[in-house]
Amino acid sequence: PRPHPTLRVRPLTCTETRRGDQQVVHSLGDGAVHVSAARHDATFGFSAVFDAGASQEAVFEGSGMRQLVELAMDGFSCTVFAFGQTGSGKTYTLMGPLGQSETQPASPALLGLMQRSFTCLLEQSRSRASDLALSASYLEIYNEQVRDLLSPGPPCALSLRWSKTRGFYVENQLSVEFESLEAIVSLLLQGSQRRRTSAHALNRHSSRSHALLTVHVRSRAVSAHPAPGQGWGAQGSARGACPSKQGTLCFVDLAGSERVKETGSSGELSVEANSINRSLLALGHCISLLAKPRGKRTHIPYRDSKLTRLLARSLGGSGVTLMVACISPSSHCLSETLSTLHYASRAQRVTTKP
Ligand code: ADP
Ligand code: MG
Repeated sequence: PRPHPTLRVRPLTCTETRRGDQQVVHSLGDGAVHVSAARHDATFGFSAVFDAGASQEAVFEGSGMRQLVELAMDGFSCTVFAFGQTGSGKTYTLMGPLGQSETQPASPALLGLMQRSFTCLLEQSRSRASDLALSASYLEIYNEQVRDLLSPGPPCALSLRWSKTRGFYVENQLSVEFESLEAIVSLLLQGSQRRRTSAHALNRHSSRSHALLTVHVRSRAVSAHPAPGQGWGAQGSARGACPSKQGTLCFVDLAGSERVKETGSSGELSVEANSINRSLLALGHCISLLAKPRGKRTHIPYRDSKLTRLLARSLGGSGVTLMVACISPSSHCLSETLSTLHYASRAQRVTTKP
């Protein structure tokens, strides 16, 4: 199937309202969204559009997220990624208004796609007859380095390798088993904390890295189905007669897509900006090549960035992808909003064969 392109328009923030920003994005219903400003007038189509009034629950139910969770349980590689400029609502959509303080957890109504998916996954796994094993890994890509957000101690770079059976994979990444909602939410908090801690030292680090949380679903089916040809390797054969399948559900919080001004940024910041631009460009490039009709496709340059290597399977191969484009409705963000909308429209034409 095609990736479901979903658009979320966040409400105007207090700052935007106080500044007197115009609202330039309007939802027309039926997945159409209209952008109108002085010299711009364009309509874009999505499979679903959520505007300022949409609740977190509405986004979960209306984006196809629930189906994605079910596909992961059936052994598919599923990926949801949120993209858009810094401040457009990516993290809010995925996790809700996370941890302003640990003592005051977010209200259940504000929980994001991730917590809702975990709940759904755990409920399903309890109700299914098959025996399921769930584990999670959490990585970030910062300055083209892959780092483990779950392993204790200062972050160290992990190697990204390729093998015939597994495709691209991260060597020595930590994978932690979990059986309850509390356990996985606590892993999520720990990991995003590690991202956030460096934010103070490194100027908005959190939006300067891509974060990927992957839930691995291993099922030992009761009825004998053959495994869907995924790299199960040694663990699989160790179970002997028990046929099994492994699905994944990966949540990607991409770094802000805004163009970083060449001037003024120096040293560390320009390195950051370059690696973000490079990986988002590589992703956009792969997406636009994948959008060509199958017969006309050339080589897809997944190797151009760590991000595209890690997403290779879900983008082009056997995966199912849900993309959530996030934008601000403000006139102030117009050019970034248009670029996000164009990026998302290109991505819509990609088809995969799970
Ligand atoms: P990003 O991750 O894209 O940089 P955030 O998710 O951090 O952006 O959102 C920026 C700000 O806007 C945050 O203060 C967040 O709480 C707020 N926000 C984003 N989306 C919404 C929404 N749908 N409803 C209410 N507030 C939102
Ligand atoms: Mg964010």
